[in-house]
Amino acid sequence: MTEQLSNLGTVLEAARRQVTILSEQGEVVTGTVSTKAIKVVVGDTVTFENRNGRIFVTAGSPSTHNLYRSYRGVLKKMGANVDLLFVIGAVGQILNSVVIDRMLVAARVQSIPTVLVINKVDLGLEELSQLLEVYRKIGIEVICCSAKLSQNMEQIEARINADGVRIVALCGVSGVGKSTILNHMIPEAERRVGEVSHRTGQGRQTTTQPRGFLYNKTGQRIIIDLPGVQFFGLSHASVEGVMRAFPEFVESAVGCRFADCRHLQEPECAVRDAIANGTIASWRYDSYLQILEEIEDARKY
Ligand code: GDP
Ligand code: ZN
Repeated sequence: MTEQLSNLGTVLEAARRQVTILSEQGEVVTGTVSTKAIKVVVGDTVTFENRNGRIFVTAGSPSTHNLYRSYRGVLKKMGANVDLLFVIGAVGQILNSVVIDRMLVAARVQSIPTVLVINKVDLGLEELSQLLEVYRKIGIEVICCSAKLSQNMEQIEARINADGVRIVALCGVSGVGKSTILNHMIPEAERRVGEVSHRTGQGRQTTTQPRGFLYNKTGQRIIIDLPGVQFFGLSHASVEGVMRAFPEFVESAVGCRFADCRHLQEPECAVRDAIANGTIASWRYDSYLQILEEIEDARKY
């Protein structure tokens, strides 16, 4: 007998035309995308058919809350329908506020709520207290944890288990402890915990493809492990979107002389005044300038 029933599911993993899907019935199946025209990534909703025991994806669905990054002029969709993004940093020399700001902006331009997770607090939080103060002040939720010592992990789980959250994603440069955190949430994930290279202070690249894991503690949720990228390219974003993604700038900008002030060389810029008097952290402005420069550079080609 030939089964031709159409089903809906969520993509857990997509590599070329091979896909792993979580069906609406809660079953995990693997199959093939039926035509090259169908492009799907983890988190996408797809229609699939079972044809004589083989699974074929026959259609994708429009998605929202997509996470993009651009790399060498190529826009890459990394995940779809993301309800919440955990941006992970860690105590130690691997904490890089520019990378964190870029991830926060990538999420905000797509209206994806974010939580900043600072891992490895067992190593001491003193050096980060000022930085975290800045993030908290501008309304970014911060959770400090130690995946190694299982400290405050329940705060992360509470956010995952919140109403309306089905797909969450974890991002952070390699070495911050993303695999350790994921293994804590989902022991079956068995993510390889990489060694941090002492020479550079940066972790080795251990994850390459985004991948969704099932989190079954309360209903069926998906945790996407995003590759630990160093450079979160944002050349695809609009300048206006980036400006809105720095909430403290938006607040000060009401005092700028020009309504469309970009806070660069314009006269009577209240944002630059706020940076000069310390109301806005200058390193946030550095992140902003770097992103704007990247957008500008991309337009030249
Ligand atoms: P990933 O590259 O982000 O996936 O990071 P891993 O999970 O592979 O961890 C990188 C290194 O950091 C490993 O040596 C872990 O044992 C270590 N690590 C992870 N979490 C913690 C933590 O909470 N505290 C400390 N001190 N080390 C941690
Ligand atoms: Zn201004």
